[in-house]
Amino acid sequence: MTDALQAVLKEIDGRREELVALTQELVRIPTTNPPGEAYVPCAEAIGRRLARRGFAVEYVRGHGTPGDSDRYPRVNVVARRDGSGPGRCVHFNGHIDVVEPGRGWTVEPFAATERDGRIYGRGTCDMKAGLAAAIVAVEALLDVGPRLPGALEISGTVDEESGGYGGVAYLAERGWFAPERVQHVIIPEPLNVDRVCIGHRGVWWAELETKGRIAHGSMPFLGDSAIRHMGAVLERLEHELLPRLATRATVMPVVPPAARQSTLNVNSVHGGQPEGFDGLPSPCVADSCRIVIDRRFLVEETLDGVKGEVRELLEGLARTRPGFRYELRDLFEVLPVMADRDGPVVRATVAAVREILGREPEIVCSPGTYDQKHIDRIGRLKDCIAYGPGILDLAHQPDEYVGIDELVASAKVMAVAAHRLLTASA
Ligand SMILES: [Zn+2]
Repeated sequence: MTDALQAVLKEIDGRREELVALTQELVRIPTTNPPGEAYVPCAEAIGRRLARRGFAVEYVRGHGTPGDSDRYPRVNVVARRDGSGPGRCVHFNGHIDVVEPGRGWTVEPFAATERDGRIYGRGTCDMKAGLAAAIVAVEALLDVGPRLPGALEISGTVDEESGGYGGVAYLAERGWFAPERVQHVIIPEPLNVDRVCIGHRGVWWAELETKGRIAHGSMPFLGDSAIRHMGAVLERLEHELLPRLATRATVMPVVPPAARQSTLNVNSVHGGQPEGFDGLPSPCVADSCRIVIDRRFLVEETLDGVKGEVRELLEGLARTRPGFRYELRDLFEVLPVMADRDGPVVRATVAAVREILGREPEIVCSPGTYDQKHIDRIGRLKDCIAYGPGILDLAHQPDEYVGIDELVASAKVMAVAAHRLLTASA
């Protein structure tokens, strides 16, 4: 490692308190999504800070995207600083939204309390600490590092937790991640400080409804129970589809290892008399039953294939089960993505983890999706990974926290990786 880069690492150590304070500042802005609370002050806190350090800062509102209104504007911030000459651009992208705190906290969720070498609060691990680490890493690199060609960008984007349509998808559709503008992206999601995440599984959500015919519950033979039809569906899922999915092998290094296969979850079941009525039920045969399925799939599978095998199972029931009628509605779909393990951003980050932590990072894929999907699919930018501090399992949990040592280490890794990416292209 060069002396200049050593100086950057030393500088990041010296800015430990500043990094903690920045994380706390961001966590204390309660950007709960839904509904998309306090996006503007959070985006502006990031924008103001980076503008003072010579970044060109732009605010981009996702007009007309889900949830966008004057009360809850979907405001993103993108900051760019050009280097000493032409070169490549390294972009750090973090989502600023957090999920609701939920129950079970032993600390105040938005107080960002520092205790025993950790910062506690909603959004510490997922992912304001990661965003703060990227900001401090880039600032230290610019302040004391060697003069670098190319450009550094940092974005704080909204709505990742609800699909990213007003955030990264909106930016990607408008060319902010076009390959001629940005070449490498690091998303500091909490994947653990010694893991490099190269992608995620695909998703298909669908609602399935079985149909029946209403009748008096004392004479169910005069009707046709949609719930019994759904029972037959669940039986087939349980005994045919789930065992088949469990055997599907993949090259994707998904963590935890139990997620290294295809999975299907039944999110909800609704049938018959609606809930929320506290009188006695009336005796009726259910004429409708609905489930929502959450199917996660692999790079080895196609979306058509994934949908096709569910439809085949239903068609099989329609052929053999008297009265079986159904409707299948798509709700949401995301294709799996996986960056090249030998691509520049993976190699630079792996080398940086080795240098900073002195151990070999694990290359992983995430079981669930994150904004990489939009950067890959809409932006057509393949050289994208997630790397950041925080323990993945703590995301969305009560008493979420980030360890401060890890936070500092991740900032160093990001600085070294960015330096490598910019100088490799010089
Ligand atoms: Zn996240």
